[in-house]
Amino acid sequence: MNKREFLRTSALLGAGLAAGVANISRGATPGGFTYNASGLNQAGEYVLPALPYAYNALEPYIDEATMKLHHDIHHASYVKGLNAATKKIAEALDSGDFSLIKHWERELAFHGAGHFLHNLFWNNMGPSAGKRSQKLEDYITKSFGSFDRFTALFKQATTSVEGSGWGILAYQPESDRLVVLQAEKHQNLTQWVTTPILVCDVWEHAYYLKYQNKRADYITAFMQVINWDAVSENLERAIN
Ligand code: MN
Repeated sequence: MNKREFLRTSALLGAGLAAGVANISRGATPGGFTYNASGLNQAGEYVLPALPYAYNALEPYIDEATMKLHHDIHHASYVKGLNAATKKIAEALDSGDFSLIKHWERELAFHGAGHFLHNLFWNNMGPSAGKRSQKLEDYITKSFGSFDRFTALFKQATTSVEGSGWGILAYQPESDRLVVLQAEKHQNLTQWVTTPILVCDVWEHAYYLKYQNKRADYITAFMQVINWDAVSENLERAIN
């Protein structure tokens, strides 16, 4: 078992222990990375997955203190909000009282998108850069012209998200190509039916401790900690 495999195995074990659930491997790829790392527990609730590496594993690009706050506090709050919205919608179904459904649907979209994007975010970073699969290379080339052109677009689009949000690389089945999208907050500006395969969180909580207002510097650092093995596997899953 090399270091990479050890990290992957440890991550899965850690996630399984933290979640305490039997279905932890659902959605896992043979490589061990898993986008849907948390799934539901036996009570039918969403759970916060363990980070798939140590809090300091992305130093010096992304600092340990930011990772701790971001994962343990911010991501956890989205899981909590998603469970609350899910419960309230179930109650509305039971009672037939839909008077607050607009509110809970908004909560469901915000916290659900927040939870799922953070799962993908932790997954698409890592202490090792990995390698882009030939298929990912081909899709990047046919969609953007070259990897350098993709990088320029992704960095510019992500830097210019207005307010809190995300830069997203997604697979779009209608064109069988990749697209770069911005998301405001977690859920706005979505292009439905696309499947994100690489995301960069640009909420201030993701970078302000270390980078303050220098969002572009943070994004440059983020590009150094992308795990291309994971992104390649996310593309495979999106296409299939
Ligand atoms: Mn975040």
